[in-house]
Amino acid sequence: MGEPGAGQEHVVVIGAGIAGVLTAAALAHDGRTVTVLDRDDLPDEPAPRPGVPQGRQPHLLLRRGLLAIEELLPGFGDELRAAGAVPVDTGDLAWLGAAGWSPPSRQLEVLLATRPLLEHLLRQRVLTSPGVRVVGSRRVCGLRRGGPGEPRWWVDAAPAGWSDGPAAAGADAAPEAWPADLVVDASGRASRLPTWLAALGVPPADVEELDAHVGYATVRVRPPAGGVGSAGVVVLPGRTGGGGLALPTETGWWTVSGVGAGDHRPPRDLPGLRAYLAGARDDALARVAAAGPLDGDVATHRQTGNRRHRYDRVPGWPDGLLVVGDALCAFNPVYGQGITVAALDALALRRADAQGRLTGPGGAARGVRACARLAEVPWQMATSADRALAGLPASRAPMSVLAGRWIAELERMSTHGDTVAQAALSRIYQLVAPPTSMFHPRLVARWLRTRARGYGPPVPRPPVLPDVLPDVVPDGVGGGR
Ligand SMILES: Cc1cc2nc3c(=O)[nH]c(=O)nc-3n(C[C@H](O)[C@H](O)[C@H](O)COP(=O)(O)OP(=O)(O)OC[C@H]3O[C@@H](n4cnc5c(N)ncnc54)[C@H](O)[C@@H]3O)c2cc1C
Repeated sequence: MGEPGAGQEHVVVIGAGIAGVLTAAALAHDGRTVTVLDRDDLPDEPAPRPGVPQGRQPHLLLRRGLLAIEELLPGFGDELRAAGAVPVDTGDLAWLGAAGWSPPSRQLEVLLATRPLLEHLLRQRVLTSPGVRVVGSRRVCGLRRGGPGEPRWWVDAAPAGWSDGPAAAGADAAPEAWPADLVVDASGRASRLPTWLAALGVPPADVEELDAHVGYATVRVRPPAGGVGSAGVVVLPGRTGGGGLALPTETGWWTVSGVGAGDHRPPRDLPGLRAYLAGARDDALARVAAAGPLDGDVATHRQTGNRRHRYDRVPGWPDGLLVVGDALCAFNPVYGQGITVAALDALALRRADAQGRLTGPGGAARGVRACARLAEVPWQMATSADRALAGLPASRAPMSVLAGRWIAELERMSTHGDTVAQAALSRIYQLVAPPTSMFHPRLVARWLRTRARGYGPPVPRPPVLPDVLPDVVPDGVGGGR
């Protein structure tokens, strides 16, 4: 299929999600052709699709993610804005953390949009890169090494209608074989790479997992302009109660989601979800849900565990094979890191490719190690917070204990109006500053002053409209497993 010219390198990317298209953009240079295969019939306009079952859930793009995408695709932020994405300063969000409400302040601007819009614009933009094509309705079903005189890899892809094998499809049917010098697995959480590697005789990678059993249930609401009284609402879920988020999107609709862990996962039906929101740690989300007409088709999602494959530690990693995005390392989405890490993967591969071609001997192992390294900080952030959410004992490593206590102190200062402490945490959360920045001497000095003078009054609950909530039936709150 689609043989490239002699001497021209051909890259096959498995999956046209966000990691796949950004990696295609990063690797498309020097006359390479890049083919992105996706199992879905890809829509020509922003629309949810089956291959991305999380597509109707809120997708917050962290500040670091937007910067990384801009580095790969200059001007993309303007394109997103022009398509209607809503610019919001995170300091304008009504934000209820573990310790209380955050103060209103100037923090970092983010762009709020639906996942289908973000993915659509990225795909359209990447298609303008020379040598890149995206082919839909191709489910990759196997990976083979090429024989002598053949390309390095063959990627087997089943077109639409080809089901479980030649016998089922008819004697002459066979999947298409795409030749590749470099294969990139960007097929997300559903990646079948472990199975394909086993068939190739590659030693299995260790898998690290921590699942706090977080569930999402989302509806859409159309409040009148100014009908919420806040730029958006975030209520972090806790061990003892549910939370969620309500954010505007480019469509004029807001997504309102119940988000909770374990016994506090939101139910799947609308009356249950309304009751859940009203009974969450704060009823601000129920107020947004009541602020306008509601599309009551509840979209739920529960595949949210943290999982990373340690391909970076597999001895004798095959040349010409890369793994990015959720296929390499998937996070509990509550922390909004997945897209950002996918964009950072693409940037890291572009840099690694510039240092020495990823198609060369050892190049892919270097690329996999670079991606694994950059996932380390977000992984530590997500899993240490999720240990608490899952009711697991906290790490006893002295540095983790110190960091946990210090974060709790900064949160406490923030919820008593200290916007410098708030900014420090926000920059770490948005991945624009390293975790070590929280130990800056200026913050320690502020904390000492606060201890001496007192914390001051807590930040009051920000107003979220409407003032009066409609009656909700309390049945079905929590549970929902
Ligand atoms: C409920 C929920 C909420 C989330 N919210 C956020 C958020 O707020 N912020 C954030 O940054 N991230 C969020 N994420 C994570 C985010 O969706 C992903 O991390 C991000 O999209 C990167 O994923 P990916 O491109 O690796 O995989 P995906 O987006 O899952 O894309 C995988 C692609 O591969 C295709 N595919 C799969 N198998 C095959 C195959 N065999 N052959 C061909 N194609 C195949 C699929 O069709 C799909 O297009 C959320 C995730 C969930 C579950």
